Amino acid sequence: MPNIFSKHNSNLNFNLSVVVKDIIPFVHINDYRLRDLGSGESINVKKCNSNRCKEFCPRFIPSDFVYSVSLDRYFPCVNLEYPKIINCKSQNLIYLITCSKCLLQYVGQTCSVISVRFCMHRACMSGKKYASSCKRLCDHFSSGPCKDAEHFVQIIENWEGDGHLPNRGGEDQELSRKRKRQEDHWMLKLRTIYPYGLNDSLNEPQKGVLDHSVGLNFPSLPRKYTRPNNRVFNHSKMQRSSETFIAKLRHLLVHKIDQASKLIRVSLSNMRKKELKALAGYITGSVSRERWNFTLFGIRWL
Ligand SMILES: [Zn+2]
Ligand SMILES: [Zn+2]
Repeated sequence: MPNIFSKHNSNLNFNLSVVVKDIIPFVHINDYRLRDLGSGESINVKKCNSNRCKEFCPRFIPSDFVYSVSLDRYFPCVNLEYPKIINCKSQNLIYLITCSKCLLQYVGQTCSVISVRFCMHRACMSGKKYASSCKRLCDHFSSGPCKDAEHFVQIIENWEGDGHLPNRGGEDQELSRKRKRQEDHWMLKLRTIYPYGLNDSLNEPQKGVLDHSVGLNFPSLPRKYTRPNNRVFNHSKMQRSSETFIAKLRHLLVHKIDQASKLIRVSLSNMRKKELKALAGYITGSVSRERWNFTLFGIRWL
């Protein structure tokens, strides 16, 4: 296990200035289902209550809201066929899968019956050969720390109709393109694209934005809190040192893994270049030191 505070650590000269209140967050809800998602009553989402529905409905959360773990925010779900009920037989929709262990998320879309599409995901997630579009999702549940972890599914948007052309025609391709654009919109809004979440990439990558800088595509969101007056606002307080970041991340990875995603996203974008370089040095050192025992940040991953 690496000791980042050791005087023998040659990568960084950390001092012991980590404050306990910076490490331990105030509130924590471990179970995604206990978040304030609503019962789905307002938009008429329901489970089918059939004993034969063994794969989908036990993991289905009928809800009025989805929660983004990367943002710590809620977004309302939409039923464009209201008052028609949304359930496991619905199709032509956009859905969200959430890992129950780390709360990383995946946005998907389908014109198939959602429970049928979900069973295909389940097969891939258990290690069967995957479709090229959901490699991260399948790897997440078939290897590493979340292998075989439970997961939940919610319907973000239910569209009108079944997504097919009239008179038993095939899939409506124009509608399919629209749904994929809306899927991209949700991937960006909820920050579910790798490395922020479990989506591999956008359907339509934006020109000039490389895969590894996908964060540049993220739409800005209204502020949750009003900012203090500029004259008294201290930017240096927002900027985290690599030392505090590592200590806090180690704590979250052991005790509150679902909060790690937001910490990484927010902290890295607020860190000074010097601190980012120090962090990169620490990670590179850790990886090469611990290549054979699969630990990083003091956590055993395999
Ligand atoms: Zn069902
Ligand atoms: Zn997970």
